[in-house]
Amino acid sequence: MVIGVLALQGAFLDHQKSLTACGVDSIQVRKPEQLEGLSGLIIPGGESTTMGKLMNQFNLFEPIINLGKKGVPIFGTCAGMIMLAKDIIGSDQPRLSLMDIEVERNAFGRQVDSFETDLFIPGIDKEPIRAVFIRAPYIESTGESVQVLASYRDKIVMARQDNFLAAAFHPELTNDLRIHRYFLSMIG
Ligand code: GLN
Repeated sequence: MVIGVLALQGAFLDHQKSLTACGVDSIQVRKPEQLEGLSGLIIPGGESTTMGKLMNQFNLFEPIINLGKKGVPIFGTCAGMIMLAKDIIGSDQPRLSLMDIEVERNAFGRQVDSFETDLFIPGIDKEPIRAVFIRAPYIESTGESVQVLASYRDKIVMARQDNFLAAAFHPELTNDLRIHRYFLSMIG
């Protein structure tokens, strides 16, 4: 099993470290042909408008959409979550539109640009999970087939829809592997 980590920009190396710690092989994806045969794909945090521009330049939109539609699990964290969303409030920036979620970028306001919290994610574990938020988005609304996995201050920060998983925070920045293991468990 090999997991691809989109490596155009952002926090891809830390995701690879987490996958290695889970005992799973990963590759850095920069070209469409590198998507072939992957068991899953992670779209990391970074800056979603820049990532979208690079994905256009590298012709990655269509092949990633096709991968997702084939049922291959895709996990987007922070900017990666924005890339997965169907709607981005106040923005027409490029996105994959694979998840029926509406996201608000940089949504937690200036005072709490970046923060950490113990997040309760009952669908994953009964013990809380430390979550690092960096200029994070949240999910403003979801479609009917989206399962909400976690909220922080009444805002949705983690959700799943079929083979798609989205987190507003950065699970790759802690040594806790529970969220990566959950993603790996989505691979049939
Ligand atoms: N604020 C960034 C954006 O809107 C996301 C931040 C992150 O990925 N840590 O793209």
